[in-house]
Amino acid sequence: MNAPSPYISKNRPIQRLDESAQNRIAAGEVVERPASAVKELAENSLDAGARRIEIAIADGGRTLIRVTDDGHGIPADQLALALERHATSKTDGADLLDIRSFGFRGEALPSIGAVSRLTLTSRAEGAEEAWTLRCDAGRLGAPAPAALARGTVVEARDLFHATPARLKFLRTDRAETQAVADMVRRLAMAAPGVGFVLRDVSETAAKASPEGRVLFRADPEPGEARLARRARLARVMGREFTDNALEIEAEREGLRLVGLAGLPTYSRGAAVAQFLFVNGRPVRDKLLTGALRAAYMDVLHSGRHPAAALYIECDPQLVDVNVHPAKTEVRFREPGVARGLVVSALRHALAEGGHRASSTVGDAALGAFRAESESPAAPRLTGWGPRMDRPSAAEVRRAYDFQAPGAAATPAWENRWTPPAPEAQPGLSEDPMAWRAARAEPAPEPDEAAEDLPLGVARAQLHENYIVAQTRDGMVIVDQHAAHERLVYERLKRQAAEAGVRRQALLIPEIVELPADDAERLLGAADTLAELGLVIEPFGPGALAVRETPAELGTPDAAALLRDVADELAEEGETAAVRARLDAVLSRMACHGSVRSGRRMGAAEMNALLREMEATPMSGQCNHGRPTYVTLTLAQIEKLFGRR
Ligand code: ADP
Ligand code: MG
Repeated sequence: MNAPSPYISKNRPIQRLDESAQNRIAAGEVVERPASAVKELAENSLDAGARRIEIAIADGGRTLIRVTDDGHGIPADQLALALERHATSKTDGADLLDIRSFGFRGEALPSIGAVSRLTLTSRAEGAEEAWTLRCDAGRLGAPAPAALARGTVVEARDLFHATPARLKFLRTDRAETQAVADMVRRLAMAAPGVGFVLRDVSETAAKASPEGRVLFRADPEPGEARLARRARLARVMGREFTDNALEIEAEREGLRLVGLAGLPTYSRGAAVAQFLFVNGRPVRDKLLTGALRAAYMDVLHSGRHPAAALYIECDPQLVDVNVHPAKTEVRFREPGVARGLVVSALRHALAEGGHRASSTVGDAALGAFRAESESPAAPRLTGWGPRMDRPSAAEVRRAYDFQAPGAAATPAWENRWTPPAPEAQPGLSEDPMAWRAARAEPAPEPDEAAEDLPLGVARAQLHENYIVAQTRDGMVIVDQHAAHERLVYERLKRQAAEAGVRRQALLIPEIVELPADDAERLLGAADTLAELGLVIEPFGPGALAVRETPAELGTPDAAALLRDVADELAEEGETAAVRARLDAVLSRMACHGSVRSGRRMGAAEMNALLREMEATPMSGQCNHGRPTYVTLTLAQIEKLFGRR
């Protein structure tokens, strides 16, 4: 019954581990893989005030990692100390919350030295000569003079040769190289004023060129902080990102947030383009990524992820960086403030810049126009989620055929204008501001001045869903269904925030049958739902009566609406949390009130819609993060016709 534990073969006395064993254990935490060694070494270079850092790796970093910098160097008499555990020049240990450098634990060099063949060569500022010191699997050699003009070179060969078990955990050279490159890019984003070069000097790569293959290069960015950061982000994340991002700058209770946040229509299918920095330190922080997600919740479908590079700066006392050996996690003294700062700053920026749709959307549209014979791989629809019903390129072209150049004398919308079919008129909204109310007016002459407005003058409606408008320097195509959904959503939110969503009683209450748990959940949230414009009552087992619905929605399909709201509540799993999910519920509701494609609109009605979009925050994307409109500039159109 009492079988001996298989893990302890005999009862050994307690012993103190020797230093090299201690270092190997520490290495397990600090250097998990080549990328983490590169991170530690490059951070040391940054701490040393380097302006240029060159990194060379071979075979994914397994056989060689070499980091060369032009920093202040290490005096000869301190070389050995640098390789000793818990020896650091960055803190005296008195105040571990006052950390202004990347390092401070004094573990990296001895850890790497314990598991590789390390050579540390350095020439301290002002010193006559350089010195070098070797450390093989933790055994220190004797210092010797060396040739080096300035700065420090740390070379680690055969990483983990001293701990073969570790080697087994490494992935392919290619994957390790990728991880190193990702790490270098992150550091490059953290320090825009510093130049970085990463080279692969593996035998095969070095055959082609003695310099090896350059995997990444970024020269020091000149200029003041904001511009340098922007330039560096363009270098690392791509121009496309910086062109389609909002500048963030906010401050709250001693925390400062700066950086760039991508437009919702420039989102990604995974959280691969999110970079967070705290006091210049690249971090992976759940609190901050959660805040980022929350900020975009309103404008992105759950399957889409925002792209962002955000930098928090604060007094070191306000954040503890000593919670993780690899220093990638941090702990804010007041997490709520950090989270609130990110959420509110991003929401604010999105509301201000949110009627913009990303420029890549226009390029994607351009791709759709191209003749198939050219068969260019159509630019990826960066911002769009899967959309099965997208018309083919040929269909889109056909749709535009009627707009032959000769037709320009008569405004297209006059030819196309058809009074809205009465049965298609949604809703009983009395909101005089609503664009719908404008539909009864006669079509006005196209207003030249309106062309200066961002969304221009409506010229035509195509396929009963796409509004084509002329702007000063191009054209805009609006997806009226998506746009309307967004506008309704914003109106619902506004009403909810003020006196509660305006309701409209059904002439005959609609009885909806539902699974018992859905009915339960809805009834549990009935009071909140009533504030959101949805009044329900129990109606026997497994059924509910819908008495009133949000006036904004017109006459929605009550059963479908209820089912959607029930889904929304179920996703949260907590009826008590309805309040927190108000917006999500409203967003679901908005889908039901939207003008489905297939409704004709007159010119006045279309223009009123465009004006309301311009005036509405975040109208550049529908509630799922798809664009509500795309822009084609004249330049793009000219390109289309080979004029450029
Ligand atoms: P930490 O960075 O936590 O202090 P390390 O083991 O990484 O610990 O480095 C130990 C010490 O060696 C540092 O505190 C620093 O004084 C010195 N050092 C390491 N790398 C460099 C470098 N590239 N340039 C100048 N000094 C360095
Ligand atoms: Mg260090």
